[in-house]
Amino acid sequence: MLVFKRVNDLREWLKLQRKANMTIGYVPTMGALHDGHLQLINASVKQCQITICTIFVNPTQFNDKKDFQKYPVTIERDIEKLVASGTDALFLPPVEEVYPDGLNSSEFFELGTLENKLEGAFRPGHFQGVCQVVSRFLSIIEPDIIFMGQKDYQQCLVIKKLVRLKNYPVKVEICPTLRESDGLAMSSRNVRLNEVERLDSVYMSRMLNMLKSEITPGNLSALEEKGKNYLLSHGFMSVDYVSFCNAEDLEPVTIWDGHQPLVILTAATIGNVRLIDNMPLS
Ligand code: AMP
Repeated sequence: MLVFKRVNDLREWLKLQRKANMTIGYVPTMGALHDGHLQLINASVKQCQITICTIFVNPTQFNDKKDFQKYPVTIERDIEKLVASGTDALFLPPVEEVYPDGLNSSEFFELGTLENKLEGAFRPGHFQGVCQVVSRFLSIIEPDIIFMGQKDYQQCLVIKKLVRLKNYPVKVEICPTLRESDGLAMSSRNVRLNEVERLDSVYMSRMLNMLKSEITPGNLSALEEKGKNYLLSHGFMSVDYVSFCNAEDLEPVTIWDGHQPLVILTAATIGNVRLIDNMPLS
């Protein structure tokens, strides 16, 4: 596997790949790789001739400085995993290669109502930061397919919107959420859970399954409250949201007609780790 740290070196190599008509798959990550990430790599390796992964803990998408500083970094192990999974190239840039003009972007991404709800409401500026970095990487790499995880449901919709806004000629492929055997959605932040918190964290996916099995057409507010209270009585300190939303645009759904495609989204804190998860209801 080739490791690039400079944009120009990566661009030179990519030029050669494109000349040879290689299809390019791209997997953006912030590192501390787990099987959820590797699933995206596997999907790319299967569908594309070249797979490129970026590892970059993007400062502009963290509204909480402490969260940024505590973000786990395991580069050597990540590289071993990427080599074993058949990744062709890793782009591991320093901040100044990604943001040569500094961290303050002059570009505003018109994300509409997606911007300020759910994660956007609790992490102001987060999706602008996500768009800033993904936009930069898409224009450097120019992949045929970008692979994203459903674990970050709202982020997937944001990236689809970004691709439409900027007319990037890239297909956005969404891979399902990979879970631990007890149901906890895999996440780089899970390593920050202590033993007790790790045991209690399972109640997040249990809550989603419970709501899924109990939903009936009509008013969903009581079920959302039930989900929140369930988390609070099972080790979670605070719940940012448990929300039934339209699966396509994430508009909140209070009264369900029994047909509209829904997704339940949640974010809650256990110990000092904020976890998110979601469950689409077909
Ligand atoms: P991150 O490193 O957390 O920014 O994630 C990089 C990519 O991996 C994003 O597209 C995530 O949605 C995806 N991802 C993270 N965790 C999972 C998971 N448990 N299952 C599937 N995809 C995931």
